[in-house]
Amino acid sequence: MKYIGAHVSAGGGVENAPLNAMKINAKSFALFTKNQRQWTSKPFTEDNITRFKKNLKKSGISEKMVLPHDSYLINLGNPDPEKLEKSRDAFIDEMERCSQLGLSKLNFHPGSHLKAISEEKSLDLVGESINIALHKTSGVTAVIENTTGQGTNLGYKFEHLAHIISLVEDKKRVGVCLDTCHTFAAGYDIKTSEGYIDTFNLFEKLVGFKYLKGMHINDSKQPLGSLKDRHHSIGKGEIGLDFFKRLMKDDRFDNIPLVLETIDETIWKEEIELLYSFI
Ligand SMILES: [Zn+2]
Ligand SMILES: [Zn+2]
Repeated sequence: MKYIGAHVSAGGGVENAPLNAMKINAKSFALFTKNQRQWTSKPFTEDNITRFKKNLKKSGISEKMVLPHDSYLINLGNPDPEKLEKSRDAFIDEMERCSQLGLSKLNFHPGSHLKAISEEKSLDLVGESINIALHKTSGVTAVIENTTGQGTNLGYKFEHLAHIISLVEDKKRVGVCLDTCHTFAAGYDIKTSEGYIDTFNLFEKLVGFKYLKGMHINDSKQPLGSLKDRHHSIGKGEIGLDFFKRLMKDDRFDNIPLVLETIDETIWKEEIELLYSFI
C-alpha cells in the first residue's frame, strides 16, 4: 500500500500538523518539530505532546508514517570541532523531541565538508555523529536523505549513503530517504524507463531497499545533473508524470511515507489524489 502525504505546517504548535495532514487527505506527513532556521526552540509542554498524540490518533495516520525533518542548520559532517559539537547536540535534541511525540524516525541531510576536509573524512564524521546520537537516545531511527550535491553538500551519490550506513553500529536504527528531485538533479536519470530500472537496481546494490524508510516526492525545476535543489509540482517539472506513474505502481515503495515537498501547497490535496489515481 502507498502512504502519500506532504510536509505540512506545524505553525501554531506541533499538534496542528496531523490536522493539516487530514485536511489534504494525507496518509503520511513530514513536519519540523522546531523552527528549522533556529538553533534552539522552546521544549514541548505536556499539552503540546498530549494534543499531538490525540490529533494523530484522530487523523488515522500511524506514527510509522510520520517523517520529521531536522533543522537546516545542523551539519553532522562539519570539519570545525566546536560547530560539529553544536550540530551533534542539536541533532540529539531533535531526536528527543521526536521521541517525546511518540515518533520513531528523524530525517536529515547528511552534512557538508565546507572544502575544509575531504568528502570521505566528512562522511566519517557523519557516521560518528549518528553513532553518538543513537547511543544517547532510544527508539528513533536516523534517516539520511540524499541530496543534489549543490555546494559542498554530501549525500549526492548512493555510495555516500552506503558509506555512512557502513559506519553505523546499530543498523536497525539507520535508514535513508530518497528525494526524487534530488536524485534526478544529482544525475540519476529516473525520467526514462531504462534509467528508472538502472537507478533503482543500483540503489538496491549499493544501499538496499531494506534501508529505505521514506521518500520525498518532488518534480524538479532544473534538468538532469544540474546539482540544483529546486522542487516543482508533480508533472510540471523536468522529471515528468511518467516517472511518478511508474513509482506508484512499484511495490518497492510500499509501506513507507511518500511525502510531497512540492512548491504549491494549495494543490497538495489534488497532487495526492493524482498520485493515487496512478495505482
Ligand atoms: Zn527532500
Ligand atoms: Zn530539496
